[in-house]
Amino acid sequence: MRNVIIIGSGCAGNTAAIYTARANLKPLVVSGHEAGGQLSLTTLVENFPGFPEGINGPDLVENMKKQAQSFGAEYVHGAVLDTNLSRRPFRIDIEGEWVETRTLIIASGASARWLGLAGEQKLIGHGVSSCATCDGFFYRDKKIMVVGGGDSAMEEANFLTRFGRSVTLVHRREEFRASKIMLDRARHNPKIRFLTNTVVEEIHDVSKHLVSAVRLRNLNTGESWEEEVDGFFVAIGHIPNTKIFNGQIATDPDGYILSQGGARTNIPGVFHAGDVQDRVYRQAITASGAGCMAAIEAERFLEAEGD
Ligand code: NAP
Repeated sequence: MRNVIIIGSGCAGNTAAIYTARANLKPLVVSGHEAGGQLSLTTLVENFPGFPEGINGPDLVENMKKQAQSFGAEYVHGAVLDTNLSRRPFRIDIEGEWVETRTLIIASGASARWLGLAGEQKLIGHGVSSCATCDGFFYRDKKIMVVGGGDSAMEEANFLTRFGRSVTLVHRREEFRASKIMLDRARHNPKIRFLTNTVVEEIHDVSKHLVSAVRLRNLNTGESWEEEVDGFFVAIGHIPNTKIFNGQIATDPDGYILSQGGARTNIPGVFHAGDVQDRVYRQAITASGAGCMAAIEAERFLEAEGD
């Protein structure tokens, strides 16, 4: 029987692990399919406070993990396959082995949705990104492309005009899912060029480990052409990693956990941290802050239970 199981090893999970381990709760952290979370997919992180020179994303999460381990947190590789949250203690199936826990911190994150193009995954951190706030700075005076037609795409395109020489927004339809205000703002930005009814078919150049160009196709005319690009931002939504809870926990229609205030979910003893609940900020520092909140709540919950 564990005091705390933490699902996820990104900034939220690792910070929750540091706090619960320092509180002597000996947390068990299940790393998950994307160990290290979104930061493990980035290169230099320049906006995490405390690192004036910046720090590599994978190093930052690895440091957090070491910090948690130094206080007694245990990490297990692999994923949670199933859960039973209907009564306490909660039961968690970790790679086929059921483990019981008094409290659960869900920090399983939200995975960026990708286009699924050949080479796309290999070029993440080398020209391909899903986070303008994280990576926009690297594309000063460069040619930037953003894919998507929702609020995220509009927000990212607008933000990226601070850096890029030009920003081309590529969307597969004529109509936009984005709210009118966000769309209007992007439309009025002279640095943003819109390409609608257009899809990206290829990204080059995997052999050089950088983005140099993309092949585009207009869905109405069938015309296909290449454009030079330095920074390629995919903003086609995120998928919260809540499938394993099978409707056992309250989520919004898109699957994000619904917060009951603080880090509380609708199930007493189950807490949320990071992008699995947060569809707005999605930053390393906000996820870490949320991990801290969840840890403090788990600690108080156990104290109140007299455990
Ligand atoms: P979204 O609203 O789901 O939009 C995703 C966009 O990506 C859609 O335009 C969709 O095209 C496109 N797309 C999806 N799969 C694609 C594919 N395989 N190839 C090409 N295009 C694809 O996601 P989001 O923009 O991330 O927004 C998520 C939520 O957060 C929304 O509720 C949004 O309002 C909110 N949000 C708010 C703000 C803000 O208010 N500041 C900022 C960001 C996000 P189709 O339209 O053709 O399906």
